[in-house]
Order: sequence, then C-alpha cells, then structure tokens
Amino acid sequence: MKSIDTLTPCPCGNPAGYSQCCGPLHDGATAATAEQLMRSRYSAYVLKREDYLLASWHADTRPASLRLAAQQPPPTWLGLEVRRQQRVDDDHAIVEFVARYRLGGGRAQRQHETSRFVREDGRWYYHDGELKS
Ligand SMILES: [Zn+2]
Repeated sequence: MKSIDTLTPCPCGNPAGYSQCCGPLHDGATAATAEQLMRSRYSAYVLKREDYLLASWHADTRPASLRLAAQQPPPTWLGLEVRRQQRVDDDHAIVEFVARYRLGGGRAQRQHETSRFVREDGRWYYHDGELKS
C-alpha cells in the first residue's frame, strides 16, 4: 500500500498532491486561508483524521467526538468542489462547497454547505455551517 504522503492528487482534489497540500496542515502547519482549512478538513474526513477535524473546529461549537470509525456504513468520499470563498473581515470568512460521497453501495449523495470560519491567534477554525438542499 502506498504511503499517504505520496497521494496524488491530494484527497481534496489538488493535483499538487497530499504532501504539497493538506499533508502539512494535518501535521500542524497553519492554513493561510479559510479555503485551505476547509480543503484540509475534507481531506481529514477522507483519511479519517478525527483528531485533526476536532482540532480545527472552533471550541464554541466543537463536538466531543465524531465517531468516524463507528459510522456504518462508512462513507466513501468522491470529491470536493469549492464554489465560493468570501472574506467577511480579516478574521471571518465563508466557504461554500459541495462534497460528494456514497454510503455503502448506495447512490452518490451531495453535501452542499456554506461554512463559517473564524481566525483566532492566527489560526483558522471551522465554526459552523448551513446545509443547502
Ligand atoms: Zn489538499
């Protein structure tokens, strides 16, 4: 099995590959933009990096656990499309995206979400989101 560092493209879809994209963020690097953080969180769902998802979630809204490993059937993530990034002010931003996934042998589904991000002490955090139908 290939090491995840050689994943190309990156799970978020960036052709540069995991080690040039979401990998460093998962290892502790700071996301420069809310979109970067959002992409790295999608990749963390793909790679089941629950630790990273919780660490990048704002303390005000962070769940105690995501139980990704217990999810049945487990989702197969099919791709991410970032539709829009909007800067609200220096420390607030909105990212609209569509993530596609499949549960077990089911048909592909879409999660269309507008997420809010907050920056504190120079680090971006996911705050909350609204699902669109
Ligand atoms: Zn990536």
